[in-house]
This record gives sequence, C-alpha cells and structure tokens, in this order.
Amino acid sequence: MNLPDKNRKQEFIEKVTELLGKEYVVTSHEEIEVRSRDTVPGRVQPLAFVYPSSTAEVSEIVKLANEFQIAIWPHSAGRNWGWGNSPLTEDSVTMILERMNKIIEVNEDLAYAVIEPGVTYEALNKYLKDHKIKLWTDCTGGPPKGSVLGNALDRGVGVTSYADHFSNLCGLEVVLPDGKIIRTGGYPASKNGTRYTYKWGAGPYIEGLFGQSNYGIVTHAGIWLMPEPESYFMFGFTMQREEKGQYISLLNTLRKMALDGVVPPSIHLTSGFTLLTILTQMFKEDVNDNYLTDEDMRRLDKKYGVGAWGFASGLYGRKEHVKAMRKIIVRELSPYGRLVWVDEYKVMIVKKMMPYLLRARKARNSLINMVLNQLLKASIPVVQALPHIFDIYKGVPTEYVLKRAYFKTRKERPESNIHVAKDQVGVMWFGPMVPNDGETVFEVMDCFRKKFAQHQFEFYITIMMISARTIVPFMGIFYRQEDASERERALAFYSELIEEALRRGYQQFRYSRLGWNSVYKNSPDLLEVNNKIKAVLDPNHIIAPGKFDIF
Ligand SMILES: Cc1cc2nc3c(=O)[nH]c(=O)nc-3n(C[C@H](O)[C@H](O)[C@H](O)COP(=O)(O)OP(=O)(O)OC[C@H]3O[C@@H](n4cnc5c(N)ncnc54)[C@H](O)[C@@H]3O)c2cc1C
Repeated sequence: MNLPDKNRKQEFIEKVTELLGKEYVVTSHEEIEVRSRDTVPGRVQPLAFVYPSSTAEVSEIVKLANEFQIAIWPHSAGRNWGWGNSPLTEDSVTMILERMNKIIEVNEDLAYAVIEPGVTYEALNKYLKDHKIKLWTDCTGGPPKGSVLGNALDRGVGVTSYADHFSNLCGLEVVLPDGKIIRTGGYPASKNGTRYTYKWGAGPYIEGLFGQSNYGIVTHAGIWLMPEPESYFMFGFTMQREEKGQYISLLNTLRKMALDGVVPPSIHLTSGFTLLTILTQMFKEDVNDNYLTDEDMRRLDKKYGVGAWGFASGLYGRKEHVKAMRKIIVRELSPYGRLVWVDEYKVMIVKKMMPYLLRARKARNSLINMVLNQLLKASIPVVQALPHIFDIYKGVPTEYVLKRAYFKTRKERPESNIHVAKDQVGVMWFGPMVPNDGETVFEVMDCFRKKFAQHQFEFYITIMMISARTIVPFMGIFYRQEDASERERALAFYSELIEEALRRGYQQFRYSRLGWNSVYKNSPDLLEVNNKIKAVLDPNHIIAPGKFDIF
C-alpha cells in the first residue's frame, strides 16, 4: 500500500471534518494519546479518531478514504480490552461507531432486536426493562459499555445458551470497502422477510465474511435474544482440590450434560486464582509483590475460600423443565464437589444482610468471621459477589467482575465508569481452541500452567466451553504496563504461548494484534483465499489492512 503524503492526509481530515463537524473528528495529540491507549503493549497512535452518526456518513468516509488512500480501522465501542484496539500503522484513522446507538426494532414474539453498533449491553438491557419486553440479552463479564455488535463481530462469548454471540447475529447491513451498502439475508430490497429470523438466506452464506474480518463495516444487525424464562436458577459449583482423574471426569460429565441440553454449552470452569482476582487486589494482601507464590495462594484460599476450581451457570425454562434439570445436575455433579443453588429470593436476602455482614467483617472479629463463613459456606467477599454474578446470568451487565483486570495494579481499582485501557492496565488474553475431551483439555491446561509458572506470571485461566464440542482454555497475562521490563517479559511470554499453540495445531478463538501473523501459519491456503477475497472487495487496502494478516 502506498502511504499518503502529509498534504493528502490533511485534506482527508478536512473533508471528513466538513462531513461530521469538528466535534466528531479528533486530531489533538493529547486526546489521541489517551483514546488510543491499549491493554496490549505496542499500541500505535492513529492520525485521527472519527465518530460518524449514520450509515450514510460511514459510507461517505469510506469513499473519501479510497480517494485519499487512508486506512480506516472500525470499532463499535472501542473497548476490546485484552485483545487490542490499535491499528497497525500511524497513517490510519480509527472509526468509532458509538454515536450510531439506535435500537431500530425489537420483536418480542420472534425474540430478536435490530441494533446499531453503538448499542451497549447496558443500553439494550435497560431498553428491554424500560419497555417491559420479556426478552433477555446474553451479556459478558466484560464492559457493560461494550458494544453488543462489536463483541459479536469479534466472536465474543457470554454465559447463557446464547453465549456464542456471532452465531446469534442475523441480518447485517454492511458498508463495503468501496462505500457500497449491502444487506445480507432475506430480501435485499425494502421487505425484510426473514432477514432477522433465518441466518443463511439463500445461496452462499455471506454474513460469515464479516466476523473477525476486514471486509466491511457493519452498521446494523439483527441479534437473537433469549425469551424471559418462566423459571431461572443460578447454581454455583466448587471443587476444593484438583485431582487429575476427578478433574478429567468432571470435564467429560459437563460435556455430556451440554450435549444433552442439561446445562448451557457455555460453562466457564474457573480456577481459584481467577475467582480471587474479582475479590481483591494483590497490593492489599500480605503477599509477594511481584508474583504470588504457592504459599501465598494457599493463604489467600484460606482467607477467601475460593477452592481449586468452580463455576456458575444458569438454568432457564419452564418450571417443570428446570426442576427436572436440577435433579439431573445434583445427581451428576455432586460426586465432584459442592453445589449451591441461588434464586431471586436468596439474592434478596444476601443484599439485605450485606451491610451487617460487612460491618461484622470490618470488626475483624475472627470468631464472628468464622461463624459467618460456616453459616454462609463461603467467605463474605464471595457472598458479596453473588448478586452481581446472578445478574450476569440473567443478562444484566455489571462492572463488578470487570474490576478483576486491576488485580496487579498498585492503586485502588475504580468502582464505576471503569475504563481499563485509559487506566493503562496491562492485560493480554490468550485462548486456543481445543476439542472438548477431558483428557486433552487437562493436558493442554497443565502444559500452559507450567509455562506460566516458569515465567512467573500468575495462572489466570478459565476452562471456557464455547460449544458443547469445543473448549477454550482461556488464559490472561496480567502485567504492570508502567514497568518496561515487565512489559517486555509479558510480550516475550505471549510469543511463547502463541508458538506452543501453533506447535500443537490449535488456533485461538479470538486474536490480538500481536497474534495476527500466526493465524494462518498452519494453513497458508486459507490465507491465500482470504487475501483474494480482500483484493476483490478492497483493492485499495482501506478497511483495517493487516488485520488477521489479511491485506
Ligand atoms: C476484565 C475483562 C473481562 C472481559 N470479559 C469478556 C467476556 O466475558 N466476554 C467477551 O467476549 N469479552 C470480554 N472482554 C473483552 C472485551 O472487553 C469485550 O469483548 C468487549 O465487549 C469488546 O469491546 P467492544 O464491544 O467495544 O468491541 P469493539 O472494540 O468495538 O470491536 C471488537 C472488534 O470487532 C471489530 N468491529 C467492531 N465493530 C465493528 C463493525 N461495526 N464493523 C466491523 N468490525 C467491527 C473491531 O475492529 C474489533 O476488532 C473482557 C475484557 C476485560 C478487560
């Protein structure tokens, strides 16, 4: 790609400013420095941030970008924390679609909504509640101000049966790299037909081209939602100690239950350490400052009662159905650990009791704390987290669990309006996809666990079911971004993780910029096809050139 000269860049910015107005084109160095901050090291600061408000404006900007040969990196909310928000080159423009925040339609009977990219989890959930629409959105443990569409386009993952977000998108409007607007599925003209109800339309399935890609900018989409169930329970499961045989058997049991439809195919089996990151911060504990030792972890487990592994999940459906499923779950999971059932009533009691519990805890009376731990069968911080986790499983987003990103930061984490990137928190996610077979998953998990220990990074892991047949051992490197040597260490470690996954032949379910050049290393033929499609759709390399190594 020929890079634009300085005057052409300036002219492009002027034209876009004429189109959007000054307020929506940000070029000040100070602002760009803050807005382009990223949790992944090595961010690049773009030429400008632009904020269009309609499909027509997006299309106009893309046409101008072709004329001036400027690359556009589109984001919906721009909170892709842990995966990255940065373009590859400084001559690019970052496009944020947060102003396009209309909920165009909600169809309660057919259980879908049609939304623009600026619609956040928080906003969609509020809209449904305010309008008394009996539909639930599947949300994530990520930012409530994250975009429902942006997350789905990057194949983000939630927690219910609707957790595979991209697979619940249906009917897209897309601005192609030449500025042309297309609508996928159903009738391409004004009639909607089955656009938002039947994914495949007729002929080759085009929508798949726009997930994790650089073939277009999605400007609205249908998304399927969960009908509010007659009955909803959350259940928590804890395995106190990890014993290999039991652990593998638990994973196989969960797979069978997911295949049989007893539990949602979205169980996130979470390590004790991972749970701990929600409950506290390293600097607040009497532990090694750089890296938690096994002894530190034992003490923290004693204090917080997190156990070795655990998960929460929701049960949704008709009363009789939920009752029957609950019976099966108790029968199948009790041999492996402890189950706790939570419903609206229990959550209400916990909320009422919480001020008293916190006061008792503050008094640091160890006897009271011991009695409370016995009564609650969990530590107070775990009980405190319960209503928030309960909410997530019914589609209500919360910042409570998002705070875990700050586990290693040396200052108090914010309680609200959390912006992980602006706070310069260091997080990098890594998630290879592995067939859901207990033996294989254990082996892969254990191999990466050893690597984390060797490199002295705490082993942040969730064994995340992304379908009944596929597990992502989802790992996070938490590092202190302000510390240059730790940043370098984290980067080197990340490369080693990528190499190991490649060696084993596992792709990741989602990639950060740092991993793009490894996506197709084992399948150059696929890269060739993708590059051919790109060359046809985007001969001027306008939309995110280089994303997933596709130019
Ligand atoms: C502590 C923590 C917990 C997290 N938990 C979760 C979790 O449980 N599940 C989860 O999925 N994520 C999680 N995340 C990751 C991330 O923060 C969320 O996925 C978030 O929703 C993504 O940000 P966004 O919605 O603003 O997406 P964006 O940044 O807007 O977009 C994401 C990607 O899609 C592309 N894209 C976005 N919009 C468009 C468009 N309109 N057209 C074309 N391409 C587009 C972008 O180029 C980008 O690559 C977590 C992050 C942190 C730090």
